[in-house]
Amino acid sequence: MTVRVRFAPSPTGMFHVGGARSALQNWIYAKQQGGVFVLRIEDTDAARNKPEWTEGILSALDWIGIERGSYEGPHFQSEYAGEHRAAAARLHDSGRAYYCDCTREAVQARTGSQYQGYDGFCRDRGLPAGEGRALRFRTPDEGETVVVDLIRGEPTFENKLIEDFVIARGDGSPVFLLANVVDDMTMGITHVIRAEEHLPNTPKQQLLWDALGVKPPVWAHVPVVVNEKRQKLSKRRDKVALEAFRDEGYLAEAMRNYLMLLGWAPSGDREIVPWSVIEEEFRLADVNPSPAFFDEKKLRAFNGEYIRALPVEEFVEACRPWLTGTGTIAPPPWQPEEFDADAFAAVAPLAQTRIALLSEIVPNVDFLFLAAPLIDEAAWAKAMKEGSAELLDAATAAFEALESWDAETLKSTLEAVGAERGLKLGKAQAPVRVAVTGRTVGLPLFESLEVLGRERTLSRLRAARVRLF
Ligand code: GLU
Repeated sequence: MTVRVRFAPSPTGMFHVGGARSALQNWIYAKQQGGVFVLRIEDTDAARNKPEWTEGILSALDWIGIERGSYEGPHFQSEYAGEHRAAAARLHDSGRAYYCDCTREAVQARTGSQYQGYDGFCRDRGLPAGEGRALRFRTPDEGETVVVDLIRGEPTFENKLIEDFVIARGDGSPVFLLANVVDDMTMGITHVIRAEEHLPNTPKQQLLWDALGVKPPVWAHVPVVVNEKRQKLSKRRDKVALEAFRDEGYLAEAMRNYLMLLGWAPSGDREIVPWSVIEEEFRLADVNPSPAFFDEKKLRAFNGEYIRALPVEEFVEACRPWLTGTGTIAPPPWQPEEFDADAFAAVAPLAQTRIALLSEIVPNVDFLFLAAPLIDEAAWAKAMKEGSAELLDAATAAFEALESWDAETLKSTLEAVGAERGLKLGKAQAPVRVAVTGRTVGLPLFESLEVLGRERTLSRLRAARVRLF
């Protein structure tokens, strides 16, 4: 039997990191089993679907390493409406489903104030199909449904506690529970690896598989992803869109490594490991079923490590979208013609060790590309103390006299200027740094001045001096 797994997102919003995690787990499982990964876009909720969300899913999957052309699909659920309806008709014709015209209020009136599930009123009324009549599945009165789950063992559900659930609405359109099962059947899916949120649907769906006479798949419900308050990550409250992480400058390699650690870990106390190790070692059976904490701080630290591990040329390349503002990334504060690739290449190794997100490259290097630095007023107030004007005068004069404009000479020169005033280098640097870069923190100062060049450094020092009058 060839293993066939699927990832079946609904195109109703940005691509959730939890979805990306499920997609990766499916992807790896298929690869390990010599199986097939199928992408199915569950686009039947016409009111909430948008084509751009589908495109977003495809490009987010590409980014994370599940590339178009290397999987089956995308199939679109909406193209299988005929199969959904045929399955509903079969269930009706075989007596496994019946039409029902009860309103929720009517059921409530019969069963008491709280709606506790459908009471089976129409089970044996033999109603024909008709406008406004839902089709309900007749669940067995006895026995249990045992779900074989590679992560959770064998969750067992008593059939008599499962209500006769709706499989097609009053207008004849099949609901998610049925459409999802019929698609999995049609596409020959053998293993359903999906989010824990769907576990309550599983016994109902397995009953549908049985009733349609097809052997159900093996299931694996991967743990829910939660925030620091142990709340399920929600798109209304938390940052969850994979695209948002991409646009902030997370590397795909760091992201997918981190996502795989949600509920699982590689051998030997390691967390940052090559993707090949994850592909080899990951086992669904080893996934911890408890909720997995999405720790953005940790992800950020991971990303910093991945950035530092890049060969410098790759780092330069990876920074490019933030330096030029391509795609969905915000444009930098300088004009395209102000950007100087050589100057950037000169400071790139210094920046590479200091940033955790690629987007942080911009405030670190903007002083090189702007006609005048963007002065951070708080930084200015902090750095410009009594005596700063005199220090800037002395530093300007000393720099003007230099024959060689290199980091080492600049450093020893400012060191001497500071010493004459009883200032350590750190204290003497602060006003110079703010004058030239606009900030109190940034790349090593003297290397920055070397790359910025004599003219621009001196003119910025003079401009700052004027501001201090
Ligand atoms: N379209 C469903 C969702 O996005 C997928 C359900 C499934 O994986 O079975 O939650």
